[in-house]
Amino acid sequence: MKNGASEVHILLVEDNPGDVRLTIEALRDGRISNQVSVAHDGEEALDFLRRRGKHADAGRPHLVLLDLNLPKKDGREVLQEVKADSELHRIPVIVLTTSSADQDVLLSYDLHANCYIKKPIEYHDFMDAIRGLENFWTKIVRLPPV
Ligand SMILES: [Mg+2]
Repeated sequence: MKNGASEVHILLVEDNPGDVRLTIEALRDGRISNQVSVAHDGEEALDFLRRRGKHADAGRPHLVLLDLNLPKKDGREVLQEVKADSELHRIPVIVLTTSSADQDVLLSYDLHANCYIKKPIEYHDFMDAIRGLENFWTKIVRLPPV
């Protein structure tokens, strides 16, 4: 495989069940061998990435899809912690959010987000965006070995 692994493991950090469902649906359409894990809030995302608590056996993801507005710990804080952590900072983080505020775009890049995507509202546009990012990040990009 292009990325030296049998599958690409994606951690989806998203609290909205509808967006979780749609994102997984779009990812499954595109490439059957993706492994998708879901964290429903910011604390769970960091527990997963740091293999704590119920995520002690978690595999390290190749990519993180990160919502910004999350319960318990905000996505902005998660991004900051990931990019400040020498064990995690290479993992590409794709911000995927309903916010189109310039301050969120600027803050995300200041915190070293690898890209910023405003979630499209319309179903087909949303699916196209997820398939497009999947194609780019799993087929075109060479990811760092985990
Ligand atoms: Mg949210």
